[in-house]
Amino acid sequence: MTDLCFENDQALLTLTTALTKIRAAIKPITDTEWVSLPQALDRVLAEPLFSRINIPPFRNASMDGYAICFQDTDQEHAFNLQQVGTSWAGAPYSEPCQPGQCIRIFTGAYIPEGADCVIMQEQVSVDGKTISFSEPVTLGQNIRLAGEDVKQGELLLHENKKINAADLGLIASAGIYKIKVKRKLRIAFFSTGNELCALGDSLSPGQIYDSNRYTLKALLSNSCHSISDLGVLPDNPELIQTALINSSQHYDVIITTGGASVGDADYIQPILARIGRVEFWKIAIKPGKPLAFGEINGSYFFGLPGNPVSVIATFQQIVTPALKALLGLENEHPLQISAICMDHLKKFPGRQEFQRGILIQNPDGSFQVRSAGKQGSNILSAISQANCYIVLSADSSGVAPGEKVSVQPFSTSLSLV
Ligand code: AMP
Ligand code: MG
Repeated sequence: MTDLCFENDQALLTLTTALTKIRAAIKPITDTEWVSLPQALDRVLAEPLFSRINIPPFRNASMDGYAICFQDTDQEHAFNLQQVGTSWAGAPYSEPCQPGQCIRIFTGAYIPEGADCVIMQEQVSVDGKTISFSEPVTLGQNIRLAGEDVKQGELLLHENKKINAADLGLIASAGIYKIKVKRKLRIAFFSTGNELCALGDSLSPGQIYDSNRYTLKALLSNSCHSISDLGVLPDNPELIQTALINSSQHYDVIITTGGASVGDADYIQPILARIGRVEFWKIAIKPGKPLAFGEINGSYFFGLPGNPVSVIATFQQIVTPALKALLGLENEHPLQISAICMDHLKKFPGRQEFQRGILIQNPDGSFQVRSAGKQGSNILSAISQANCYIVLSADSSGVAPGEKVSVQPFSTSLSLV
């Protein structure tokens, strides 16, 4: 037996092909803006950053101890030197270190001229200003050289780098406060469906609460996005068409959920074909087969399925790579690891599946995964419990307990890691 959805329609695209088409269709934004460093976390650098200074800017001690001249050392016997001053972090000893002298020094403090090694304080004995050294010494030990992290003029960070916490520190160490980043993507999203009831209202017969907008808003929350929740549209082609045309004038990306399939109340694909350009609309993945991607007046459009689990899966697998491409970010495949499957997993050959799983690491470091429960694309409770997808290839016909499977772990925010 094969997946009926697949048998009925051989025109499904593989995920890989769909992603290739998306990459080819998307032109990264070029507009930029200046932000100050505290606002720069997770933004995308619009130009390479070079350091105008050496990092660190001067030779400094990596230990608390004594700065000395290597020529004064005796590798066989203990030797004494006279302490002539102290170099504090932020209050350097500015005289040179002369032969026979040593300088008390603390971590991060300037190494006085002439000194070329630092002996840690645990390795000396002190008698007033006479310091006795007895351990072997290496030239340059416990000294951090000027520019040993980054040299003046060297590249700090390349263009299109997403700025993380470490990058912020690196940029700050170079004394840079304002940086040029890609402007935020303007993204609008709607839910569509006559059955949707707003939170706060009581359900009438046949209604369900609109959950997709809340999930989508959370999935889209990101420093690089400026997001607008445009509410719920009924299954009315004129209203949907007007809303999409209006949005295309204001947003880089428009996302809808629902109405993307081939039912009588599914209008998304024909509307897209009428007012824009359809790149594709069916993908050989489960959940998430009916999916429209295209363009309306220069805005990119994603018509996601209505089922809530399909919304999450297609967002992660398709929309996320597209948004990254739009920002100029590199195409990184989600982390995939191998795990032993503890459950029987049902599947028919046909589509690549992203089954919801619970991954744990065994004490010996290996991974095992079990099913997170019911796999229907409407079962939010299972994906809420899940911490990964169990990725089953299109030709797989199920998994027996004990078999190895590929797993894509979620981060806590549901983005793929
Ligand atoms: P559709 O793709 O419009 O045929 O919808 C598929 C399924 O998803 C139906 O059971 C819908 O009721 C459900 N659905 C559609 N939109 C939402 C939404 N915003 N929140 C929760 N469920 C939805
Ligand atoms: Mg619908």
